[in-house]
Amino acid sequence: MSAPSILAKNLRTVGQGLCLVARGCARSWDRVAKSPYRRLVLGITFGILPASVAIATYSAYPSDDEQMARSLQTEIVAPLPIPSIADQITVVTTHSAVTTHTTMIRVNDTLGAIFSRLNIEDAALQRFIRGQTLAQPLSTPRDGVYVQAKVTADKKAQTLKIFLESRSANQKNSVVTISRRGERFVINSAPFVYETQQAMSAGLVDKSLIESAKAVGVPSEIAEKMPLAFERAINNGLDISKGDDFRVIYERQFLEGDFVRNGKILAVSVTHQGKTYESFWADDGTRNGGFYSLDGTSNRTTFIRVPVEGARVTSSFMPMRRHPVTGVLRPHQGTDFGAPRGNKIFAAADGVISRRSFDKRGFGNYLMIKHDDSRTTLYGHMSRIADGMKVGVPVKRGQVIGYVGATGLATGPHLHYELRVNNRQVNPLKTSIPDKEHLTNEEKHKLLASARPLTARLAMLNRIQSVKPLTPREAVAKEESTPEQPRS
Ligand SMILES: [Zn+2]
Repeated sequence: MSAPSILAKNLRTVGQGLCLVARGCARSWDRVAKSPYRRLVLGITFGILPASVAIATYSAYPSDDEQMARSLQTEIVAPLPIPSIADQITVVTTHSAVTTHTTMIRVNDTLGAIFSRLNIEDAALQRFIRGQTLAQPLSTPRDGVYVQAKVTADKKAQTLKIFLESRSANQKNSVVTISRRGERFVINSAPFVYETQQAMSAGLVDKSLIESAKAVGVPSEIAEKMPLAFERAINNGLDISKGDDFRVIYERQFLEGDFVRNGKILAVSVTHQGKTYESFWADDGTRNGGFYSLDGTSNRTTFIRVPVEGARVTSSFMPMRRHPVTGVLRPHQGTDFGAPRGNKIFAAADGVISRRSFDKRGFGNYLMIKHDDSRTTLYGHMSRIADGMKVGVPVKRGQVIGYVGATGLATGPHLHYELRVNNRQVNPLKTSIPDKEHLTNEEKHKLLASARPLTARLAMLNRIQSVKPLTPREAVAKEESTPEQPRS
């Protein structure tokens, strides 16, 4: 497969030589070439938009030093005219079509549903999977596991891979591979390490940051996380609006050259009403890391301050108060949010349901969520607990967990909300309680080292953007089936 013609030139920026070469396009093209449909789409996109500018940067993650060294090499690709669409169609029809599909397993998934998302119809393979202990994450689906299949035109899987990612530092990732050998299947398990590449996108904000990012090809699960980088600076990202512009750098993870999943956002920059805000991911010792400014201050508010729809504070956190029903003087260790009966109550942060109970003489219908080793939240007096909220079920920040009511000891409909740190209630309105307010000096040094090449790229994207906005050329970034969104 010959790569399309390439424009290559050298550019010097912020004292670093950025080498602009053709490899990015060639590699993208190789990946695109695996899917006839994508090749066609890309052909059409570039055919219609010959002036579109495509950007791709690549760096793997073996070590920090190597990462730094590699990330100084940035590749910019400007596609020039490519063979006619008629030629492309000829190539498409003669190509033996093996397509790669990726999906993520969700709670309550079934093997049949997973197969249909992977475009597989293969009863023999289903039977094989049900008889294999190694394939158990598929036969009794486990949440958050990525699966990838290479599927032939007759919807039979050539190979199927189950990616079991380590959830602790002393464990390794392992991939279970099922391969077809004629009429039989072979299964094995081996450790793996993702090859991580970086992708960049930029664009103008039209309606919202999320929608505008999706419109230029940023995968939806990445786009939806972008506002998190500006929770503190720009009102949860909500004020970012028409006329603003954005740049984002995020990870894409591959195994043996095949896309498996999107990784984390590394940097986001937004110019809002003429002022530019930059936010960088940093390893801050918390489970998922967080977004920070270069001065080391957190840009996230991990906990939603008011986790209920249409609420006003009716009784705030105070050391002592007279109970409105019993008249007894005792501390009020939570915050009461008055709201109409039936309004939605949200999980304040990611976590796992740790308690579901009814207490007639206290919180009524209530739930507790465990967020990490030290922090839990409690939601009391609910009229109804949302479906599926059982102990052990994981919940996402902002997910509806129940509805406002006045069950238990309450004078009227309200949410009694508690945030507990190491089992002691703290005032949820007094602090935004990020996972961490500030990075330690050591963490800040690491952030600055990894941010240096990222800031150079953001600046470069900004310059390109100021010449002309990027066109929705990201057929490449949209490649493969992006992992499914939750369907509930
Ligand atoms: Zn209360």
